[in-house]
Amino acid sequence: FKLLVMQKIEHIGIAVKSLAQAIPVYEKLLDTPCYKTETVDSEKVNTAFFLTGENKIELLESSDPEGVIARYIDKKGEGLHHVAFAVADIHAEMSRLKAEGFLLLNEAPKKGADNKLVCFVHPKNTHGVLVEICQEIS
Ligand code: ZN
Repeated sequence: FKLLVMQKIEHIGIAVKSLAQAIPVYEKLLDTPCYKTETVDSEKVNTAFFLTGENKIELLESSDPEGVIARYIDKKGEGLHHVAFAVADIHAEMSRLKAEGFLLLNEAPKKGADNKLVCFVHPKNTHGVLVEICQEIS
């Protein structure tokens, strides 16, 4: 018996310059309204969420010119930023990934958007994909 650790893709994160511009585009693209916006001060991001069936899309806009999303867009432009996996026990999963040699970008889980504890895995060990693991705060 092996505990299911990576439960599913929880959402896909997309870096945008402007939520004001991107939200109407994604509303048209997905033919569904943005159901929530939320600012995460600790991460210097404004976020907007969409549901397509069971799948969630998170748009990320920097709330600060020096924020990580602003720096990402300066370097790589707008676009796919991270893939987030839901996990049942983020502490256990962080220990497992660390033991497997992945580089975690935070030592402890931090509070992310949408009532989640999150941790990011450095893209250098994942063939270029920034991976987020997240656990719903109960
Ligand atoms: Zn995310």
